[in-house]
Amino acid sequence: MNDTAIAAQEVGRVYASDSGAVHALQDVSFVVERGQFVVLRGRSGSGKTTLLNCLGGLDDPTSGKIWIQDQDISQLDESARTRWRRSSIGFVFQQMGLLPSFSAYENLDVMARLGGVPRGERRERILACLDLVGLLDYYDHRPYEMSGGQQQRIAIARALVAQPQLILADEPTSELDSETTHDILTALQDFVRQQDVSILLSSHDPIADDYADRVISLRDGRIHSSA
Ligand code: ADP
Ligand code: MG
Repeated sequence: MNDTAIAAQEVGRVYASDSGAVHALQDVSFVVERGQFVVLRGRSGSGKTTLLNCLGGLDDPTSGKIWIQDQDISQLDESARTRWRRSSIGFVFQQMGLLPSFSAYENLDVMARLGGVPRGERRERILACLDLVGLLDYYDHRPYEMSGGQQQRIAIARALVAQPQLILADEPTSELDSETTHDILTALQDFVRQQDVSILLSSHDPIADDYADRVISLRDGRIHSSA
């Protein structure tokens, strides 16, 4: 079994803009082991979203290499990459992107189908994930019938439903109050321990550090510290 969840080697990402090249990431190298809860810390503009997008294959680095569990993602063509992403990566975005006319259960079901969860296991997986985030009783609620914190917990449950080996969460708690933040980070911590998966969670707030096995901090697109 391979114990490396992420290996990034000298990753760079340059954006072209009207005012010239923006070096969003420069010479970023690190390794995340399987079973680690890692917080990616950095101020706004430090490169967190760019890095998560590159790791999940939503964007391509301009230079350097990324392996996710032994897979060099630059080697995958578009359709292989989409399949790989749906089954191997759980994304949680700041703007959670729940389907508004679908219930919580249906939102998870869409992702379970896309992620290839066998039909006979879907219902059990969906209910288990809703339970993990404490929202089993809300299975038939639509997003607008839930608070922002509850919607974000549904988005997290949705990211877990296809049993990805790696969860990439981009500032999932930045809009939430401290109690809800605590509940969500605790649920993710439990999930990492129980399922032996890895999480890379970005945050501009040091509160997340308390839940992490490790903190990698970015400053101006470079790794500032990695402990
Ligand atoms: P963070 O998520 O830490 O706030 P980002 O990865 O969003 O940081 O941004 C890193 C840097 O790259 C910032 O200077 C930002 O303005 C710039 N940037 C991000 N996306 C683009 C883009 N599509 N085009 C040009 N510059 C961008
Ligand atoms: Mg960001």
